[in-house]
Amino acid sequence: MKADNEVNNVVSEIDGIRDNLTRIRNGIEHAAQKAGRNPDEVTLVVVTKTFGLDTVRNAIEAGATDVGENYVQEARAKIQAVGREAARWHFIGGLQTNKAKYVVRLFDLVHSVDGYDLAAEIDRRAAIEGRVMDILIQVDISREAQKSGVMEEDLVEFVRTIAPMPHVAVKGLMGMPPFGREPEASRPYFRRMRELFDEIASLRIPAVDMKELSMGMSNDFEVAVEEGATMVRVGTAVFGQRG
Ligand SMILES: *Cc1c(COP(=O)(O)O)cnc(C)c1O
Repeated sequence: MKADNEVNNVVSEIDGIRDNLTRIRNGIEHAAQKAGRNPDEVTLVVVTKTFGLDTVRNAIEAGATDVGENYVQEARAKIQAVGREAARWHFIGGLQTNKAKYVVRLFDLVHSVDGYDLAAEIDRRAAIEGRVMDILIQVDISREAQKSGVMEEDLVEFVRTIAPMPHVAVKGLMGMPPFGREPEASRPYFRRMRELFDEIASLRIPAVDMKELSMGMSNDFEVAVEEGATMVRVGTAVFGQRG
């Protein structure tokens, strides 16, 4: 049996997370209403990278339905312990081709597909697993040297190239504005993402089902929702600063 104070600490961590989730959901709702959107169209992906197993468990206990992870090894340990069915699992980090096999076993959606070789390996591994892997294409909207993603000018061609892969299903786009600026500074990047999203949707490429626009993090998720995000990826605003 756990000591009383340990039990209390767990309860208070869950309560704290629940309060933060409520505050974030209120922010999403407010932003959606402002933009004339239905808040139910927006999925809150709770980003647990670098936090331990207990925090992942507590987040789910506090009502997180969608959990985002960045690192394959770390995520694998957590998902195996918490259970594949405990949440919808989102892979949001940079993905090396040689880790694709784990990702197709563990995750429901990969947000960060940014190259042909990676998509082809996901397709091959998903075929072995007997599944179709839902993916988003990461777009390099910030054009910062350290950012990954497909360049805008290559995007349509890239989507057309991977669309025929039978075990990969393109579900939308993901993008990140430059880091560390005011929330409003993200708005033009989010708007551009929305334009690219609409452009690809309008092409009606066979097997491409443009449903999800993943953009917005702790500092700018409200702006992202105003500009059309259907998924926001939020860590710090739920758990505090990562160590
Ligand atoms: C870490 C991370 C997030 C969450 O960032 P916060 O600022 O902590 O909300 C979202 N998306 C990606 C791709 C990340 O790596």
